[in-house]
Amino acid sequence: MTIPERVLRQFADEVGPELFSADPVSLVMHSYDATNEFVVPAGIVRPRAAPEVARILAAANRLGVPLVPRGAGTGFSGGALPERGGVVLDLLGLNRVLDLDEAAMTVTVEPGVVTLHLQDLVGKKGLFYPPDPASLKVCTIGGNVAENAGGPHCVKYGVTRDYVMVVDGFTADGRPLRAGKATLKNRAGYDLKDLLIGSEGTLAVFTSFVLRLIPRPEATVLFVAFFPDFNAATSMVNTLFRAGITPSSMEFMDGSAIRAVERHAKFGLPLQYQALLLIEVDGRADEMDRVRRRTEEILSAGAAEVRVAVSAEEQAALWEIRRKASPAMRAFGNKKANEDIVVPRQHIPATIRGLREIADRHRLNLIAFGHIGDGNIHVNIMYDGQDPDETGRVEVAIREVFDLVNRYEGAVSGEHGIGLSKKPYLPANLDPVCYDLMRSIKRVFDPNNILNPYKMFY
Ligand SMILES: Cc1cc2nc3c(=O)[nH]c(=O)nc-3n(C[C@H](O)[C@H](O)[C@H](O)COP(=O)(O)OP(=O)(O)OC[C@H]3O[C@@H](n4cnc5c(N)ncnc54)[C@H](O)[C@@H]3O)c2cc1C
Repeated sequence: MTIPERVLRQFADEVGPELFSADPVSLVMHSYDATNEFVVPAGIVRPRAAPEVARILAAANRLGVPLVPRGAGTGFSGGALPERGGVVLDLLGLNRVLDLDEAAMTVTVEPGVVTLHLQDLVGKKGLFYPPDPASLKVCTIGGNVAENAGGPHCVKYGVTRDYVMVVDGFTADGRPLRAGKATLKNRAGYDLKDLLIGSEGTLAVFTSFVLRLIPRPEATVLFVAFFPDFNAATSMVNTLFRAGITPSSMEFMDGSAIRAVERHAKFGLPLQYQALLLIEVDGRADEMDRVRRRTEEILSAGAAEVRVAVSAEEQAALWEIRRKASPAMRAFGNKKANEDIVVPRQHIPATIRGLREIADRHRLNLIAFGHIGDGNIHVNIMYDGQDPDETGRVEVAIREVFDLVNRYEGAVSGEHGIGLSKKPYLPANLDPVCYDLMRSIKRVFDPNNILNPYKMFY
């Protein structure tokens, strides 16, 4: 939907020329996210404080101007793209840490704060904010809350939702709202705070959060274990949990991911194995020796090869293996289908087998890695986007991947959200009544459909 020139001019006048821009460079800079799709917006608004957000929303709602909230634009599902035209609401200007209460172990931040900056800031006080999406050097807390982002540490510490106590923001028509309380329990009415978390900019615009912090673990040890077949790796996951070891990270890479990373970065990885587990354990310094010995003993009984890193430098070097998984894909095609499925942990072996069958049947290069402790598998298919035959095979394969997810009662997204890219697959993944209720909720929050329209639902 193109916004009529007259309406856009009036909107720009009402929000003020100091906040609105439509110069070509700004438009291009706000036309993409990590999906590699491009949609050029009609304009950009850059508020610097919460009251300005209220004013922008009220004007947009009155004039019928679609608004698309945006943090750093690292989203993997198209949530920050101004689909069919719209004005991007760039929230990077709201980037202050408003309060750090060491005694209460809470921090109050605006949405444009970069996740790693927050972790570093609280880390200096001996505190820990665990949610750690791999994009943490650039992504924002606002984007993390809107996507309910996860990361490697979530297997032990939970996802973003588990650390958000209060969400402050504005409704689509500019009314202020404060959802949640800075208490550890809260049974006052429906849990609107939890509804807003993961709402992908479709229900409200967030302008600050009270986040819960925990004490920083004193010590960590990292293991890399190589397995001759995938079943050996997945049964190891269960063995560790059953032995009472809850790793602080439990990542995996399949054989093709190991080979892709080795080709990309030459770590000297053994290429004969079909799976690798990267397992971090953390805790009190005086307990670490015992936990380390026990974990190593269990891993050595099932893995073909185990490497251990104790010092920060050694651990950083081992983590690089996993971090290179995404960039390593680029060598295998100019286009990437990037799915983020999650299944109950007991169905991981069958799901991985199903993925391999799909890849073989359609002659595709499918590389899987991810957060195995959560059952969250990143399925990447690299292909030539110029080749219509291969592109067609990828489309069929993706549908089959989601059929597989539905068969094992998983979810189409574990952490990247629905946005535009998973929208076609959501109805089959949800109970029909729940799907309908969700669409009704969107209408209650945003009757004029101006807040990130065309996302998530048809
Ligand atoms: C290399 C790479 C690795 C990644 N690894 C992970 C990972 O490990 N785990 C993971 O969960 N994700 C990961 N992601 C995806 C992405 O980084 C996360 O979804 C992140 O939370 C997005 O933050 P952002 O600031 O970039 O948000 P954006 O992409 O700008 O926006 C994302 C969504 O949030 C909405 N939004 C943003 N700010 C607000 C606000 N203030 N109020 C209301 N809505 C808002 C937008 O409308 C949009 O729908 C990765 C991405 C990349 C590129």
